[in-house]
Amino acid sequence: MSESGRLRIAVQKSGRLSDDSIALLKAIGIKLNIRDRLLIAHSTNQPIDLLRVRDDDIPGLVMDGVVDLGFIGENELEEKMLERKAAGKASEFEVLRRLDYGGCRLSIAVPKEASYNGIGSLEKKRVATTYPYLLERYFAEQKVNAKAVMLTGSVEVAPRAGVADAICDLVSTGATLEANGLVEKDVIFRSKAVLIQRADGDLSDEKLALINRLIPRIDGVMQAKE
Ligand code: ATP
Ligand code: ZN
Repeated sequence: MSESGRLRIAVQKSGRLSDDSIALLKAIGIKLNIRDRLLIAHSTNQPIDLLRVRDDDIPGLVMDGVVDLGFIGENELEEKMLERKAAGKASEFEVLRRLDYGGCRLSIAVPKEASYNGIGSLEKKRVATTYPYLLERYFAEQKVNAKAVMLTGSVEVAPRAGVADAICDLVSTGATLEANGLVEKDVIFRSKAVLIQRADGDLSDEKLALINRLIPRIDGVMQAKE
């Protein structure tokens, strides 16, 4: 693929990480002209282009060198690393900063009427999740023989629908769990948003210099919020 001189940054198009990621870029002085329908947004004062995509695509775009930087939740990043490893694909990237937004936890929850005495209660049970690799790793660590059932959406209704006995989903306040008659039991992963960069060696000196100017500004913005 041809290399334009412009730094390419992947952000979630719309979702829980979009507004905070865009706000951070604006706070460090990057002027952006974002039009809702468009995949690409050009900065008007820096040699920077934003690629606006689903968050699921961001780790791969960075690891395959399609973009230079990406804002992504650690949960999605870790899941994609495990998925790529299973497929025999390398995952080269660097975490530049852990950010102060996007906080959530990946937790196992069961219907409130279910009896649950620790993860062993899930032996031979089915657990619905969007993060099968993280969940299977947890089962292996805990030596529990349970099955992760992959669902890309509506995970919280799976027990009621008879699709699974429990779920493993992202939680921040717990309101969604409660609304679905579920109780949070075990936290298996704690996550925040991170800024990641593709492998150093593949970046031009100009792009590295630009990144090195942006990072201290990110630190400044985060410190100012503390
Ligand atoms: P996309 O259409 O981009 O695939 P999505 O539905 O996968 O969107 P969101 O629900 O917007 O994604 O969540 C994006 C990320 O926001 C999560 O992967 C996680 O890192 C973070 N996050 C923070 N709080 C929560 C929460 N309460 N529930 C879900 N995700 C959260
Ligand atoms: Zn997603």
